[in-house]
Amino acid sequence: MLAHTMSSLRDHAHETRLCTFCPKLCRFSCPIDRVEHDEAVTPTGKQTALYLLDKGTLEWTADTASVFYKCTGCRIQQTFCDHRVDVTPVFRAAREETVRRGLEPAPIRDLRDRMARDGHPHGSDAIQMGAVVNRVLSIAPSPSDDIYFASCTALAKRPEAVVDFFRLVSTMGVRAPRLYAGPLLCCGMPLSDAGLESEFRVHAARIHSAIAAAPRIIVGDPDCASTLRDRYRDVGYDLSARIVTVVGYLWEHRDALKRCLKPRDTSIVFHDSCHLGRVFGLYDEPRDLARLAIEGDIHEPFHKRAAATCSGAGGLLPVTSPDTARGIANIAHHELREASGSAPIVGTCTSALAHLAASNPGAETHDLVSLLASALTASRRTP
Ligand code: SF4
Repeated sequence: MLAHTMSSLRDHAHETRLCTFCPKLCRFSCPIDRVEHDEAVTPTGKQTALYLLDKGTLEWTADTASVFYKCTGCRIQQTFCDHRVDVTPVFRAAREETVRRGLEPAPIRDLRDRMARDGHPHGSDAIQMGAVVNRVLSIAPSPSDDIYFASCTALAKRPEAVVDFFRLVSTMGVRAPRLYAGPLLCCGMPLSDAGLESEFRVHAARIHSAIAAAPRIIVGDPDCASTLRDRYRDVGYDLSARIVTVVGYLWEHRDALKRCLKPRDTSIVFHDSCHLGRVFGLYDEPRDLARLAIEGDIHEPFHKRAAATCSGAGGLLPVTSPDTARGIANIAHHELREASGSAPIVGTCTSALAHLAASNPGAETHDLVSLLASALTASRRTP
């Protein structure tokens, strides 16, 4: 375990040197720095800390290591980096080393306990899985061998969006996938983000054994899709050829979907998900799908697509630095409001939408899937 963790940090030595001696070309884009205005939290600052720790001129302490938890994993800096450095895996490796040294912040220990107890981070009573399964079975009683992996965040915070997916599919003349309902409801991303590598490996093994037989795995949230596709492959459980984002799946069936919808005379503002955009490269597809549901404008914030502002929900920032996470959500919300007045915010990431809404009381946020379901023709609207 030690050898693996240490080699992870060493694997990133080149990126750490590049960032340490870079004149902070991406600094302006880093959402943490946009709120905290602190040299130490910029990509350059965090990489410099790693460089000095490696040289032995800085000591590993809980205080030193806390800076590695100041990253949402949004990857926006990569958009503006001439070297295309992705700092996310570097800081994940730094978190793994932090955990190995027993220096992780208290919220990370609490997260470890909650994941061990419930299999997801939302609390014991947060997910009413039986009720969701019953509703889905009433809509799609004869599922195919494909799996729909809803995120635990959607199950806990927006179960209606999970049901809405099945309402859409059941009207498209496509055999619906089977809703995955256990034994663990979380893909394990929080463990990976926390640097709890050994716990993540165990978790990934259990999920993998439960879903690996499915021909295709349609994943509700893009951050979970990237975990199942990329992080699982990193730890030896390769599902990458079978992972499909829900946006990719609906895009594939867009002609059938179009026949089921009657566009409504309404406008929205679109918030790009960090993972759907910067990881999966899907920018036009969610907008084109939204166009099937509305006739009004699709407003765009000033920072959009590959430059889109993070919501602040990622990388466990809401548990390790809640004030900063709220500050980032306020910036993102301000940009969305500036672009659109009061138009509802539509996106594809449950964590981002829930965090934007929680940080900005009164903000109206909708999952793209629910927007589409709201445009089902009257005869098809109610299962
Ligand atoms: S990610 Fe690129 S632009 Fe940002 S500090 Fe590193 S080398 Fe510089």
